[in-house]
Amino acid sequence: MIIRTSLVRILSFGFASGICLYPFVLIGKEIEVTERLLNHEKIHMKQQLETLILPFYLWYLIEFIIRILQYRNFEKAYRNISFEREAYYFESHIEYLNRRKRYAWTGFLDQENPG
Ligand SMILES: [Zn+2]
Repeated sequence: MIIRTSLVRILSFGFASGICLYPFVLIGKEIEVTERLLNHEKIHMKQQLETLILPFYLWYLIEFIIRILQYRNFEKAYRNISFEREAYYFESHIEYLNRRKRYAWTGFLDQENPG
């Protein structure tokens, strides 16, 4: 379920166009909803389901902190969270979710583009 809200900018410190809070997808009011954006958020939805939702947020936060220490740059840190690496890497591959393996994001933990 998609909710248009300007909260996205605040919650993501201006970095994200959308935020997936299973079963909702929040998308900024000023943002154009594209296939690519929807696919990105659907990838997060899969990640959240397979990690039983709450652990997703915990892991996301912990990895964000680790990436901040690693990159010393908020945007770079955000883009390199393994959940985001997978979502950004495959967002333009609209058929990706049909062939995605469970826990595919773990393949992005130590590299930006696995395989
Ligand atoms: Zn994302």
